[in-house]
Amino acid sequence: MKLELQDSSLLKTQAFINGEWVDGDEGNSFAVSNPANGEQVAVVASVGQAETRRAIDAAQVAMQSWKALPAAQRSAVLEQWHALILQNQQDLATLMTLEQGKPLFESVGEVAYGASYLKWFAEEGKRVYGDVIPTPQTNRRGIVIKQPVGVVAAITPWNFPNAMIARKVAPALAVGCAIVLKPAAETPLSALALAELAKRAGVPDGLFSVLPSADARAVGGEMTSNPLVKKVTFTGSTPVGKLLMKQCAETVKRTSMELGGNAPVIIFDDADLDAAIEGALVSKYRNSGQTCICANRLLVQEGIYDAFVEKFATAVNQFQLGEGFDKNTTHGPVITGKALTDIHAKVENAVAEGATVVTGGKPSDLGGNFYEPTILTGVNSDMRVFREEIFGPVAPVFKFSTEEEAISMANDTEFGLAAYVYTQNLGRVWRVSEGIEYGMVGVNETAISSEVIPFGGVKESGQGREGSKYGLDDYLETKYICMGGL
Ligand code: ADP
Repeated sequence: MKLELQDSSLLKTQAFINGEWVDGDEGNSFAVSNPANGEQVAVVASVGQAETRRAIDAAQVAMQSWKALPAAQRSAVLEQWHALILQNQQDLATLMTLEQGKPLFESVGEVAYGASYLKWFAEEGKRVYGDVIPTPQTNRRGIVIKQPVGVVAAITPWNFPNAMIARKVAPALAVGCAIVLKPAAETPLSALALAELAKRAGVPDGLFSVLPSADARAVGGEMTSNPLVKKVTFTGSTPVGKLLMKQCAETVKRTSMELGGNAPVIIFDDADLDAAIEGALVSKYRNSGQTCICANRLLVQEGIYDAFVEKFATAVNQFQLGEGFDKNTTHGPVITGKALTDIHAKVENAVAEGATVVTGGKPSDLGGNFYEPTILTGVNSDMRVFREEIFGPVAPVFKFSTEEEAISMANDTEFGLAAYVYTQNLGRVWRVSEGIEYGMVGVNETAISSEVIPFGGVKESGQGREGSKYGLDDYLETKYICMGGL
C-alpha cells in the first residue's frame, strides 16, 4: 500500500518540541514499518535525554500562562483540536493502519474515539470545583481548591496509537497542565500527526511536545527524574510500569498507571448464549487480541460449555485475516515478529500441557505477523494462557462448575483491569460484580470503554482513572486553605 493522504503534511517524521519540528541532537533515527508486510513506512527522528529535558523546560514555561487562562479559553482550543481531528479522520486512520496494522474501519473508529476525549475534557475542564468545609472553630472555614498538578510526562503504547494519547493529553491540557509525550516506537506517526493538528488548533508552543525515540530508557529516565515533571502517566506493560514507578519514587512524582490485564469473561449456564458469544468474540479478537481489556480467559460453566465452544468456533472461522486496507479484512496482523513468537510460545506451552486446538493454533499461511485466530480447550490454571496476558488472537476456554469457583478463578491473578460476566440472574450479577477484584466489570456487555466512564485497574493492572469526571482528578492537586480570623 502506497502512502496516500489527502493532506500529505500530516506525515511528520521529526520530533515536535516547543512548537517546532526538529531532528534529534545526534541525528539518530529509526524506521517505522507496516506490520502487515514489513515494508518501511517512514524513518523518524530519534531523540534522547537532552531533547527530553528541553521539552520539559519548555512545558514548564508554557504552562504558566496556560493555567492562568479561564477554563473556557483552554476549552475552546481543545474543541478546535477535536474538530481538526475529525476533519482529518481518514488521513489519521490511514497513518494508523499503516503503522499499526489494524483494519481501516477500526482505525477510523479509534480516531473518533480518541477525539471524544478532547471534546469531553474540553467540557469537563470547566467544572473543576472546590469545596467549603465547616470547621470545629466558629471563626474559620476550610476551603479546598483544585490546581493543575504541573508538567506531565506521558508514555504510550502502540495498540491504540491515537486514543491512548488523547486520553492523557486532553485532561492534562483541560485543567491547565503541559504535557510531554513519548509515543511507542512502533507507532510514532499517529502521535506526530496529532501534534501537527494541535499546532493548527492553536495549542501554544511547548504545551504539548512529542518525543519519538528508539531509546525509551533515555527519554523515560529523564521524564521520571526531572524535578520539573510532577506526574508521569503511562499505558503499557506491568514490568515497565513498575520500573517507571520505582524511578518516580526518587522525586515522589504522582503516577497514573494503566498496565496489563488478564480479563476473564465469565459465562454462566443461564446466560444468553448468543449475546455471550458476540461479546466474547469482540472482546477477545478486536485489534487481533491486542488490547489491555481483551478477554484473556473465557470461563464457561459446564452446562453450556460444549454449546459455547461449538458456536464460538463457527463464528471465529468466519474471520478474514488480512491487510488493514483490504475491505474484506476483519482482523489484521499482530504488531511485530517478536509478538507473534511470544503468542505462539504460549499456545505451544498449552498444547504441550494437554490443551486441544479447536481452531487455529499457529502462524497464518499469510506469513509476516499474521497469527490464526485460535481457540483452545482442555486448558487449566497452570498454563501460561491462564497466568499471562496473551495479547494475541488466542482464546483459551476454561470450564467451571459453581459461582464460587468462577469468582475464585477470576481473581486468581495479579491483574485486575477489566472483567465480564454473562448471566440473566440479577442476584448473581451483584454477587459476582462485587466479588471480583477488577477496576471495570462489563455485565452482559464487553464494549465497555468510552470517554464518559472511568477506565482503569486495580492490583498490578495499575492505578488512576482515565475518562469521566474522575479522570480529571489524576491531573489535579487538592489544596486546603484555612480561612481564619473570621
Ligand atoms: P508493550 O509490550 O505494549 O510494547 P511496553 O511497556 O514495553 O509495552 O511499552 C509501552 C511504552 O513504554 C512504549 O512507549 C515503550 O517505548 C515504553 N517503554 C518501554 N520500556 C521503557 C523504559 N525502560 N522506560 C520508559 N519507557 C519505556
